[in-house]
Amino acid sequence: MSGGGLFALYKLHLIDAALYEMKQRAAALDLGKAEAAKIKELEADPDGVLATARSLSAELKDLELEQKSFDDKLKKLDADLYGGSIVNPREVENIEKEKSHIRERRDNNDARILELWEEVPVAKEKAASIEGQIAALRQTIAKKQTKAKADHEALQSAYRAKAAERPAALKGVPAPLLAAYDKLREKLGVGMAMVTDDHRCEACGMHVPEKAFEHIIEDRVEQCENCRRILFRLQQG
Ligand SMILES: [Zn+2]
Repeated sequence: MSGGGLFALYKLHLIDAALYEMKQRAAALDLGKAEAAKIKELEADPDGVLATARSLSAELKDLELEQKSFDDKLKKLDADLYGGSIVNPREVENIEKEKSHIRERRDNNDARILELWEEVPVAKEKAASIEGQIAALRQTIAKKQTKAKADHEALQSAYRAKAAERPAALKGVPAPLLAAYDKLREKLGVGMAMVTDDHRCEACGMHVPEKAFEHIIEDRVEQCENCRRILFRLQQG
């Protein structure tokens, strides 16, 4: 690879590294995934707390409706019985039988309703605790998403501003060097790495041989033996 243009590439790299970092930050914005997973877990209702509260409430409601319809039937039977239209003793007997049958069912319902009046509030309280947790998690998600949206917008505008610096920085970089650098960027995200004071690739920690180090100082292109990034050493003064 021909030498020259390392400092120009370095300036381009600073822009690209900043852009890359902003992309990473945008991808890592907290949208409340953990909270959403927790909600899913709670809503799956592994102990059946929510389902129990729902089914007991529904049972109570059904029984109360049924009582109402039994009352209506009894009223209607009484009206038939005392309305004067039914005089046949056999019919009277049948109606009395039906009334007693309804009353029996009504009494059974009443016994269950009394139980449910105790069970439903307990079950509802247990369910309310879970529903409260879910509501709090939803709030957290909403807050996180509002913040993430604002952060994302800020990142986007910073990204656009930084990206606008790129065309000017491209100009000083020789074409073959740029092509090699772009290939590395595509593969690794970041195409250039600094050489540290103790002669290591700052990206991966690989030792930079003395010869390569001298070349870099002379503005000749060297790549890290391990990660292949183009190496650069900023000259002091
Ligand atoms: Zn390296």
